[in-house]
Amino acid sequence: MADHRVRILESVYINPDVKRLRIEKPEGYAFIPGQAADVRIDQPDWDTKSRPFTFTSLQEWPDLELIVRIYRDHHGVTEQLSKLRTGDHLLLGEPFGAITFKGPGVFFAGGAGITPFLAIFRQLHHMKLLRGNRLVYSNRTAEDVIMHEELTRLLRKDYLNVFTRQNVIGFREQRIDRNMLIELAPDLSQRFYICGPEGFVRTVSAGLVELGASAEELVVEA
Ligand SMILES: Cc1cc2nc3c(=O)[nH]c(=O)nc-3n(C[C@H](O)[C@H](O)[C@H](O)COP(=O)(O)OP(=O)(O)OC[C@H]3O[C@@H](n4cnc5c(N)ncnc54)[C@H](O)[C@@H]3O)c2cc1C
Repeated sequence: MADHRVRILESVYINPDVKRLRIEKPEGYAFIPGQAADVRIDQPDWDTKSRPFTFTSLQEWPDLELIVRIYRDHHGVTEQLSKLRTGDHLLLGEPFGAITFKGPGVFFAGGAGITPFLAIFRQLHHMKLLRGNRLVYSNRTAEDVIMHEELTRLLRKDYLNVFTRQNVIGFREQRIDRNMLIELAPDLSQRFYICGPEGFVRTVSAGLVELGASAEELVVEA
């Protein structure tokens, strides 16, 4: 099926390296919270380069929302996305994705891997079903955390930040290792959701399975 040509309605930085794009929703476009779509920039030389991004909006919202971490270290698609403004166009594929809500559990997110979980949390909050879910969110520094205020408001005590690089008083500064997993996930019979950079997903998944979690209970996307 041909991609949908959609207009950018709003484009704002929410962190130094993270942009939120509000874009038109094509007529009849339907997705489940946690799903992504392939996105291309509708400009010469860029319309052949497709990259996946996750919808952080809910199905009932009038527009679509994407939250994009910009990599400025090379001239890739996200760097070009950072230059786009209201009125520019994107080409949007059909929704896909492995991460959807399958029941309460512990969510492990690394960096921009928070986006499918944000959509899921927004949906659960809307349905008053968020209680019983916990988020462990790993970033290099506090500045890298995406949508911290909303996550705090939604999850309160069930939201834990882990920083791998920065000394921040009141927060943990360490990698998610075996000892931390034992502390964070004492009940290994529950469901675990893991999303983030490949290395993060590999380490957390392997750690949980090694401790005795069932591989079938892991909902994973790297
Ligand atoms: C299903 C799915 C959903 C996703 N959803 C989101 C989302 O909602 N939000 C989001 O921000 N991201 C999301 N991502 C990740 C996103 O697709 C990538 O960040 C994006 O494709 C990067 O595109 P790029 O062209 O800028 O970088 P690419 O060229 O694709 O490079 C990606 C990585 O390689 C490194 N790299 C590559 N070439 C170089 C180079 N020459 N020098 C230095 N470093 C280099 C970059 O630093 C970066 O880490 C998702 C990924 C998947 C698979």
